Amino acid sequence: MRVLIISDIHANLSALDAVRFDSGPVDAVWCLGDLVGYGPDPNQCIERIAELPGLVCQLGNHDAAVLGLVPVEEFNLNARLSIRWSSSVLTAACSAFLQTLTQMTTVGEVTLCHGSPRNPVWEYILDPRTAAASLDYFETPYCFVGHSHLPVCCTSLDKSKPVHLSMIRNSQAVQLIPRTIINPGSVGQPRDKDPRAAYAIYYTEEHRWEPRRVNYDIHAVQERIYKAGLPPLHASRLAQGT
Ligand code: ZN
Repeated sequence: MRVLIISDIHANLSALDAVRFDSGPVDAVWCLGDLVGYGPDPNQCIERIAELPGLVCQLGNHDAAVLGLVPVEEFNLNARLSIRWSSSVLTAACSAFLQTLTQMTTVGEVTLCHGSPRNPVWEYILDPRTAAASLDYFETPYCFVGHSHLPVCCTSLDKSKPVHLSMIRNSQAVQLIPRTIINPGSVGQPRDKDPRAAYAIYYTEEHRWEPRRVNYDIHAVQERIYKAGLPPLHASRLAQGT
């Protein structure tokens, strides 16, 4: 099965559409959360994602905040402003869709969640210690996460060895080994200084992970951010990939 892996779309429709076009036909789509927040197109992104084939979709911290499930005070000011704006424009149908999202799901040999299997909505996996702790919280050989907006791979050959955490910097395929946690990076707000939308294609039989990047019309998204009255920082950082 050829699966499209997306995460942290953050209401960026131009990036999402570029990924859908670039990925080609897929058998399923696994989305790791944060469909909304920061960007100007929350309803359009939810509508597009809801109709994707074989969709399995997780709840992100921004999705939870827009639904009022977590306090907005937990976020920094600019994120808070965009969460409040997103809540105010969200349609009833899109809100109902977000409410169906789960915090952690197992699909075959893979566990899916937004942050980490230990704390699926909130925890960032940014260092080997957190990655090592997370390995005890899922039963499957592989775990796919988002949240940090960084394409990162964490592996541990066995329990006695330290966890190795590395950035996925090129477009070379990764052959997954059991006890791997891997992140595709962010579709709508990459933070690894590469402004192109990040995603991955996963081949379930071969356990092969293909990291992908694709250009999209950043300027058009920035214009929509300004027009919506969202914080200008959310526009400028898209061009820098930060
Ligand atoms: Zn995010």
